[in-house]
Amino acid sequence: MQTTELSIEFFPPQTPVGAEKLRVVQTRLAEALDPAFFSVTYGAGGSTRERTFNTVREIAATGAEAAPHLSCVGSSRAELRAILDEYMEAGIRRIVALRGDLPSGAGAGGELRYANELVEFIRAETGNRFLIEVAAYPEWHPQARTPRDDLTNFKRKVDAGATSAITQYFYNLDAYTHFVDEVRALGVTIPIVPGIMPITSFSKLARFSDACGAEIPRWMRRKFEAFGDDADSIRAFGLDVVTELCERLLAAGAPGLHFYSMNQADATIEICRRLGLAKG
Ligand code: FAD
Repeated sequence: MQTTELSIEFFPPQTPVGAEKLRVVQTRLAEALDPAFFSVTYGAGGSTRERTFNTVREIAATGAEAAPHLSCVGSSRAELRAILDEYMEAGIRRIVALRGDLPSGAGAGGELRYANELVEFIRAETGNRFLIEVAAYPEWHPQARTPRDDLTNFKRKVDAGATSAITQYFYNLDAYTHFVDEVRALGVTIPIVPGIMPITSFSKLARFSDACGAEIPRWMRRKFEAFGDDADSIRAFGLDVVTELCERLLAAGAPGLHFYSMNQADATIEICRRLGLAKG
């Protein structure tokens, strides 16, 4: 009997071929894992507005719950209000509320500066219409002045009305358990769901991790590097370490798992199968 709540993240496909592929991926994931929701990322500044909306609508049309991400950077209140209206009309019940990052050189822009202001705005405009997920950073957001500041800023989002949090991915279990202990000590009671990044290619992951401030522990990095171009070994080791991380997270009391699927089904299904969370 499954008690762990699963959720799965997609990015909005750029081409009709990508959209068709995602339909197949979503069907496979829905059949194997029956996740609580599928979330769909949003390009900061509104660059994927239409594609995010279309992807969300397609997922919702299959009967699954779809949760659009929405970022405030680079957008006006009027633009954000119009997007919220569209989602309310489409029957969407959950939003992942973010600040977002504009490409470097694009300036700050927008009328809301931080995610706590977006959460406040969504609550002011729509009351309790939406469940609101926010981002959390067990290894600290790269721009945070100090870990203490980052915790205080995280709490602002909760105080503004967030109902649950999804973390940036990480491979250090202790970072998650310390983060949860620290936010609980501040009186935060909402679920903190760990974000899980399956590892299928190491070089891509290393580049991405450097940019978003997620650490790949030295022992893992050295092993991946030693595999060189041996894709089968990278995949096998990646499945082993991520499954073990998930096992330990669940044993430590994580309320669920949020998979950064990168629009792929195989690794997420295999990890969940090993955890005993897949159907059949
Ligand atoms: P915030 O919570 O606003 O924090 C950003 C920084 O500002 C932090 O350093 C924080 O400490 C500081 N800060 C926060 N509030 C204040 C305040 N009131 N005063 C002073 N400092 C403050 N990006 C996208 O563009 N699209 C996506 O779809 C997307 N999805 C994501 C999903 C998840 C689960 C996660 C973890 C990240 C996602 N991101 C996405 C990336 C995210 O937009 C970036 O990490 C961004 O830099 C921060 O967004 P945030 O919502 O965490 O910002």
